[in-house]
Amino acid sequence: AHTLFPLYSSFVHPDITEHAKHDLLTDCRHSAEVQLGKAASKVKSPHYLRYCPLCIGAQVKQYGEAFWARRWQLPGLSVCAE
Ligand SMILES: [Zn+2]
Repeated sequence: AHTLFPLYSSFVHPDITEHAKHDLLTDCRHSAEVQLGKAASKVKSPHYLRYCPLCIGAQVKQYGEAFWARRWQLPGLSVCAE
C-alpha cells in the first residue's frame, strides 16, 4: 500500500510518529492521518507542487525534456531563484 508516512515522519515529533506508526500497523489509518495532518499543518511549506515555466522552457531546450526542480518548492519563495 502507498502512504505518505515516510514523508510525514521526517518532520513530526518522534512520539507522534511512534503512535501513528502503531495506528498504521493496527490499521487505524484514519486516526493516524488526522494526527499527522495536524502536525504537518504546522510546517510552513507550500502544499502544492510549484514549477517555473521559464525553467521548464530552458530545460526542454537544453535537455530535450523537463523535470521538476527542488528550488521551485522552497518555502517563502514566490519567484524562481534562477
Ligand atoms: Zn525559473
